[in-house]
Amino acid sequence: MILVLKENTQQNQIDNLITWLKSMGVETHLSVGKYQTILGLVGDTSVVDEDLLQGLEFVESVKRIQEPFKNANRKFHPDDTIVEVGGSRIGGGYFQVIAGPCSVESEEQICTIAEEVKKAGATMLRGGAFKPRTSPYAFQGMRAEGLKLLLKAKEKTGLPIVTEIMDASHLPLFEDVDVIQVGARNMQNFELLKELGHIRKPILLKRGLANTIQELLMSAEYIMAGGNEQVILCERGIRTFETYTRNTLDLSAIPVIKELSHLPVIVDPSHATGIARMVRPMSLAAAAAGADGLIIEVHNDPPHAKCDGPQSITPDAFASLTKELNQILPVVGKKEIAL
Ligand code: PEP
Ligand code: MN
Repeated sequence: MILVLKENTQQNQIDNLITWLKSMGVETHLSVGKYQTILGLVGDTSVVDEDLLQGLEFVESVKRIQEPFKNANRKFHPDDTIVEVGGSRIGGGYFQVIAGPCSVESEEQICTIAEEVKKAGATMLRGGAFKPRTSPYAFQGMRAEGLKLLLKAKEKTGLPIVTEIMDASHLPLFEDVDVIQVGARNMQNFELLKELGHIRKPILLKRGLANTIQELLMSAEYIMAGGNEQVILCERGIRTFETYTRNTLDLSAIPVIKELSHLPVIVDPSHATGIARMVRPMSLAAAAAGADGLIIEVHNDPPHAKCDGPQSITPDAFASLTKELNQILPVVGKKEIAL
């Protein structure tokens, strides 16, 4: 981090700042020029509050050279992280597809879809039990009962399950869940993220509706700072001025995150577009852009789905999509989906 100090800065102001930074383990390098004084901060500057420095009356400008995230940073961990879930690997050349309904609706529904997506190459089953809905009057999910049904589907098919947590107090219910999803609306629920840092289970962290890539990585950092390094990031579309699609899929987030971080990145084309017929092209584009996987909403009767029917594809459409993905994956150096 580099600080440019104002021309009339007093020596005692500089000394106090250097002492304060030193107390946080940050070394400094002072360079006094004819017109400008520059203070270089050396060491782990992730503990330094940039805004606080900028607010000091004698500081002209602050430039961060090193990213504020450490555990998620590729600089300190050059190799790709590979997260293992029920025998399948994600990241580092391994591509996985997570599929299933937006929400668990009944035993028959979740078990039927689980069988179908498994046949078509999915290696994990998704399904919401606790649903974050915009309206309090909309279907809120089957909650604890939904989790039980997901476990039944897992028992029948062997597919590991991925489901969303909305409150840390529900953690005991998630004991047998394979991957805990943090939804877009909870990406900055820092107390929840801290709790998830204390467990040893993969976390699927979705990007918030209006969050930057750096904010997503800082949220991953919250989980990782607690010692849980198994974080999978998910680009699920962000809110822009465009209204044709539900959100705008930020495909460039994939190569950007890949540069900045070693964590696997997957794409959710269902919530990104909100339109079932857009799921195929965006899935293929995500694979071509280097994503490590996809999470796709699949429903056996989309028009009657209790949640997100318009963006859900049928098991047949899903099966043809995984075949097409296999034409792209080897081109971008990824292992094919086992079909
Ligand atoms: C979901 O996966 O069903 C979901 C609610 O996603 P998001 O948090 O990305 O909106
Ligand atoms: Mn959904």
